[in-house]
Amino acid sequence: MPHILGLDIAGRPFRWLTAEQAILYNANGKVVWDIGEPALIFRGGINRHGQQSIVQSAPIIAVGRLDTPLVQTQNYPPLGGRNDVLFQRDRHICAYCGQQFCKDLLTRDHVVPRSRGGQDTWANLVAACRHCNHKKGARTPEEAAMPLLYLPYAPCRFEHFILSGRNILLDQMMYLTSMLPRHSRMAMH
Ligand SMILES: [Zn+2]
Repeated sequence: MPHILGLDIAGRPFRWLTAEQAILYNANGKVVWDIGEPALIFRGGINRHGQQSIVQSAPIIAVGRLDTPLVQTQNYPPLGGRNDVLFQRDRHICAYCGQQFCKDLLTRDHVVPRSRGGQDTWANLVAACRHCNHKKGARTPEEAAMPLLYLPYAPCRFEHFILSGRNILLDQMMYLTSMLPRHSRMAMH
């Protein structure tokens, strides 16, 4: 089952929706506009006239409802505990040795260690393999003589949805990439 990209009516993504959530929005008439050919088709019961109810959802739906979770005004969603999004941002490449690893072999490394006041922010976290993370210890890259091979950055809202999506459909990818700022490392030039 694909996930459906939920937008507010201004076209800003607010959540990847499960099939059930997307079908409910459609069935309840909460979808104001949508983009793309139906990605989900749910067949319901048969009424006494012998007609079967069908509810569809496009891959991208704009939901207008009073209780729509208000899209945070900040354009850069906080990282939170999502290691998978961080590793996606860094393409599963260790920031210190440059090798690519599967997620189980990666850790989140604080560039400025927490013991030195480093925070849990996009700009202070990189993917690092266990070996490099251990070797670096509670030191800065300069102190450890382990220069960063790439600089961490905070993904904008649209980048964040690309990074956090699973099996993103073509329409969804095209919508999200079309909204990327020009300087985005994920933009297609
Ligand atoms: Zn490494």
